[in-house]
Amino acid sequence: MARLIAISRHRIATDGKGVTTLVAFHGCPLDCRYCLNKQCKDEAHKYPEYSPARLLEEVRVDDLYFQATGGGVTFGGGEPLLHPDFIAEFRELCPPEWKINVESSLAVPMQNVQKIAPLADCMIIDIKDLDDDIYRRYTGRSNALLMSNLRWIAEVGLQDKCKVRLPLIKGYNSRNSISRSRIKLAVMGFRYFDEFKYIIKNDATPDTDSVSEHAAHMFG
Ligand code: SF4
Repeated sequence: MARLIAISRHRIATDGKGVTTLVAFHGCPLDCRYCLNKQCKDEAHKYPEYSPARLLEEVRVDDLYFQATGGGVTFGGGEPLLHPDFIAEFRELCPPEWKINVESSLAVPMQNVQKIAPLADCMIIDIKDLDDDIYRRYTGRSNALLMSNLRWIAEVGLQDKCKVRLPLIKGYNSRNSISRSRIKLAVMGFRYFDEFKYIIKNDATPDTDSVSEHAAHMFG
């Protein structure tokens, strides 16, 4: 069972090929300064609990769209890789033609990545920045888990199913640090990148809720 904060249907080319349904989990190990999905950490609200079978019943309504467009389900959040057993069971239950995409920061134990990366069709990896000082200032955590998980993905040769997101985060990183991240990733064999800029709505108070393209990718 897992708590879900959103199930968003009929997404087109935002977080995977074809028509997708975004399934957003509650819970995230990071504390990003410009997180728009603060509900993923909200313990006061009672979000519904789902089993993989119950989720399948609900998202099956779009089976025809998924099959006709090569789409499927994108797991996001929050952090979906806190729920590897749930995603693996869902993959077993759902039609094999459905594509399974996972949008993750990879700030999770390696065994979680090892369980899901091989069975996912696409991994959308939100790295923030590979510079550990920038990462710590922005997320409140070291990037050690992210780095070891990226190295594992490279070792086993799964880079080509990954799209790495490289955000420009005002007040935290720069075009130069993004270039350095991209070069390090290219050396590791990653080839697909998505460079974009977080849009902070209220420059005067950047620590308040803000809109980012990251959020747009997650919730349309
Ligand atoms: S922006 Fe994403 S990774 Fe960062 S705290 Fe929010 S949900 Fe977690």
